[in-house]
Amino acid sequence: MDRFDPASIDIRSGHFIGGELIDAGASRIDVSRPSDGVTYASVPLADDAMIDYAVQNAWSAFKKSDWARRAPRERARVLRKFADLVAADALSLAPLEALGSTRPVRDASNWDVPFTAESIRFYAELADKIGGDVAATDHRHLGMTIAEPYGVIGAIAPWNFPLVMGIWKTAPALAAGNAVVLKPSEMTPFSALRLAELALDAGVPPGIFNVVQGDGSTTGDALVRHPRIGKVTFTGSTRTGAAIMAACAETGTKPVTLELGGKSPQIVFADAPRIDEVARRIAGSIAANAGQVCVAGSRLLVQRAIADELIERIVQAFSELKAGPTWAAGTTLPPIISEPQAQRIDAIVQRSIASGATLRCGGERADAATPGAFYSPTLLSDVTQESDAVRNEIFGPVLTVQSFDSEEEALELAAHPEYGLAAGVHTADIGRALRMVRGIEAGTVWVNRYGRTSDFVIPTGGYKRSGIGKDLGRQAYEANLRFKSVLIDIEG
Ligand code: NAD
Repeated sequence: MDRFDPASIDIRSGHFIGGELIDAGASRIDVSRPSDGVTYASVPLADDAMIDYAVQNAWSAFKKSDWARRAPRERARVLRKFADLVAADALSLAPLEALGSTRPVRDASNWDVPFTAESIRFYAELADKIGGDVAATDHRHLGMTIAEPYGVIGAIAPWNFPLVMGIWKTAPALAAGNAVVLKPSEMTPFSALRLAELALDAGVPPGIFNVVQGDGSTTGDALVRHPRIGKVTFTGSTRTGAAIMAACAETGTKPVTLELGGKSPQIVFADAPRIDEVARRIAGSIAANAGQVCVAGSRLLVQRAIADELIERIVQAFSELKAGPTWAAGTTLPPIISEPQAQRIDAIVQRSIASGATLRCGGERADAATPGAFYSPTLLSDVTQESDAVRNEIFGPVLTVQSFDSEEEALELAAHPEYGLAAGVHTADIGRALRMVRGIEAGTVWVNRYGRTSDFVIPTGGYKRSGIGKDLGRQAYEANLRFKSVLIDIEG
């Protein structure tokens, strides 16, 4: 699907608790479309009482339904059906996702929806693979660890990939036998509701997959602090992650998985094969979703000999992008999520220029057919490690470029004082690539590529202030289990 009429989308609003859509509550939040700023719907804001209702409901479904106790292969069968329903729903799920987010509908239907379905399948396949261990004890004892679900997982997702981020939190939790209460971002609340409905249709018992709507300070905070929440899994900004970690410590030492911000370097050596392809990848990694990607390759570090040539090609690739609404065919530069966020991006760019950076392209709003907050892909050179644009996560299509001569210098520039989410290395020399992999402090390093494949077995997650724990892979599944040690005296 490459286009749709925004007026044709039917919005169902509310919380999804105990298998029912509940559109109740005194306060509501307006929801607008980033592509044109039009307010198209509203959601109720879950207060403490609604969160208590949702979590108690999830707890009771966890205890009373057989979701956690049934044969894991039976849980897997239901989850595979859930994945099939998601894939089959692409024609309504993709435009629903695109309407209120920054995801062009072509990307939502070619990537977000199938990726969501496949993430569910990956965790369905793990459902009967990890049950615990038998310990090597002496013959008078039998020792073992038994893997058990936590009960209710509190999941909080950001707005940049609403479906994919939501399911990365939810699918491993469900496969491990937990109930989930998911809070999507208040800016992109609707596709999560559809996911929960499809899960119910597939046979996930009512109350096992719940969605609550609301903001961070009331709804998110109440969810994290609820005493019946066994574990919290969060994707979003580093600042919110720190607040959630503190709340988890204050209310029960709850374990947390945190997928947070980044400021990821892309290091290009002069021997990198196919420089035009490298330029295309680098431009793509910062322009995709208009730079609103946690692993956006926002800091280009290039060996001096090829700096001018590479910059020229990236500027050319940027100029070929087409700003437009998420529902139009041919959109390759979607809007910024909100007007304040576009203003923040511009302020960082202008401050960096005022403190000495050279603007190679962009640095201004982009024209599009609709009045959303579009921002031109921007390239800044003559920056230092202290420049605003180099230090701060911008979450927009802004690339900084710095040159280096040696591997040591590249590693020094690559190191960020706070973040360590991802990095890219482009070189034809395998020894050099591996020295860089060892030297870079980041949770993911891509070599001669940038971005994920569909190898769900490879986890994603940050070092340093970019996070704790992993999404995807076996690791995310295990993080939804706790391990009980059992020691049996078998001699009576
Ligand atoms: P955000 O931190 O503002 O909000 C994320 C979610 O947390 C939202 O649902 C919000 O309502 C909720 N929230 C806010 N305050 C809360 C609180 N005190 N308690 C509980 N919940 C609260 O982030 P955002 O603007 O939605 O997303 C952008 C950020 O997410 C960027 O920093 C980006 O790098 C990061 N991100 C990271 C990854 C990753 O895998 N590491 C992936 C996507 C996005």
